[in-house]
Amino acid sequence: MHGRMMFQPLLISDLLEHAAQYHADTPIYSKNTNGQMYETHWKNIADNAKRGAKAFEALKLGHGDCVATLAWNNHRHLEAWYAISGSGLICHTINPRLFPEQLIFIINDAKDKAILFDKTFLPLINAIKAHIPLVKSFICLDAPDAEIVKALPEVLFYDDLIAAQSAEYTWPEFDENTASSLCYTSGTTGNPKGALYSHRSTVLHSLVASLPDSMNLSAKDIILPVVPMFHVHAWGTPYSAALVGCTVVLPGPGLDGDSLVKLIDDYKVTIALGVPTIWQSLLVAAKQSGTKLESLTRNVIGGSACPPSMLATFRDVYQCETIHAWGMTEASPLGTVNQPKAKHLLLPIEQQHKLRLSQGRPPFGVKLRLVDEENGTNEVAYDGETHGNVQLKGHWIIERYFGKDQSSLTSDGWFDTGDIASLDQDGYLHISDRAKDLIKSGGEWISSVELENIAMGHPEVAMAAAIAATHPKWDERPVLIAVKTPESTLTEEALIQYYNDKIAKWQIPDRVIFVDAIPLSGTGKMLKRKLREDFGDVLLNSAEAI
Ligand code: AMP
Repeated sequence: MHGRMMFQPLLISDLLEHAAQYHADTPIYSKNTNGQMYETHWKNIADNAKRGAKAFEALKLGHGDCVATLAWNNHRHLEAWYAISGSGLICHTINPRLFPEQLIFIINDAKDKAILFDKTFLPLINAIKAHIPLVKSFICLDAPDAEIVKALPEVLFYDDLIAAQSAEYTWPEFDENTASSLCYTSGTTGNPKGALYSHRSTVLHSLVASLPDSMNLSAKDIILPVVPMFHVHAWGTPYSAALVGCTVVLPGPGLDGDSLVKLIDDYKVTIALGVPTIWQSLLVAAKQSGTKLESLTRNVIGGSACPPSMLATFRDVYQCETIHAWGMTEASPLGTVNQPKAKHLLLPIEQQHKLRLSQGRPPFGVKLRLVDEENGTNEVAYDGETHGNVQLKGHWIIERYFGKDQSSLTSDGWFDTGDIASLDQDGYLHISDRAKDLIKSGGEWISSVELENIAMGHPEVAMAAAIAATHPKWDERPVLIAVKTPESTLTEEALIQYYNDKIAKWQIPDRVIFVDAIPLSGTGKMLKRKLREDFGDVLLNSAEAI
């Protein structure tokens, strides 16, 4: 027998409707690409989203079509997001830091029919336009201006499109499992892969991400998502913010420390989210300005491990509670969050501080297991010491990549994250290493395999391994460990130069270290873990690293 309760599909448009109805005048502050601040509120955001939905209909975009966004965190982007997903289209948020070939690949792979873009990305649009034939509409998310029209004559302006529509619109109701948005993530080799989220997965994720033991969000908060909307939906904050009806401060393109400090102080931000690199420059700027960031009660740090010194500085200098979180594109992204339990508050303060450094524990909705690295399904001991591969199951965890016929799960239904960690009896995860062959620099991925392939293309390189070395500013930077061919006179400088024009500049290794031999496993694989042990700290003491 079924329960006798109403059924309502979990739809993204409901999040916005809730905010518009019960938090109508709660402000949204947004920095435009010209640096000017703009103030609106949830009711306006919702009305414009409805206008946007009608405008997309008028452009003949139909249910299930992909519409891309190439934009910073700003109010037009937020409106367009809700307009796209709410009306049954799929919002494909694009990372502008991908290089043009990858952008072309993902736009064609998603079969995007329209692209909404900030003026900043106009040169990028022009550079790739000839290679993305399925895109019929180019919609600029900045105020209309002649310079943009001159550079892209077919451009449409979002402001014009919504001005032509009324806000009389009823969001369509459809199956909650309908696809809502698409984010691509880097593969170890080859092209990026898409994670296709559903309305249901997104709404459930927003609910749990807002809980006291997650971000502890409420209508009293003023939230600053520094993490870009193109990085797994700014970790879901624009959805959670609507769900609780809090104030949102959207930082636009100004992600430098000084701009962020000013936003926090000017708008009395209570919670902000970003990768460690962002916080690093914010701490430098805060120290210089002498601010105490008084409004900031907590910050969420994820995307890479939070350095202990950073957590201590926020706690001791700024009385700001750092919430360390771990997740990934394939997990929408929330996997674990670090919040203490009641019993931990009774521990000596040093032990409490130590506990806060872990990546935290899974919230309801995420199941987590660690399996033996050798034998894929045996669970390891959860003693806080034994390491294993982290695998996930849950309502907002990927089942297969976009456009793929094959499931991405293990034979017994788990998603392998490629991270290596230990887990203690209380469910706290300590990420210790990465099995996937990727380096994460300032929140962006670099494929070590690609760096190695380029090096191996040099006639005087016999073998090469690219590893992630710890870096004080970028968290990780690539370092190449290479073996020269006999008689070679190749220098470090020449090999670094060899990367020019073969890869984006920020992906070129910081150092090349020549060795006589690279350690190999019994099966002939390069022992990267050993190399990381030996060379993982080489950038910490070098002058250019600071
Ligand atoms: P992405 O899909 O780009 O969000 O990257 C997800 C990956 O970033 C994870 O699989 C981890 O390798 C890494 N990561 C995310 N959060 C953390 C964290 N708090 N500590 C260590 N690594 C992290």
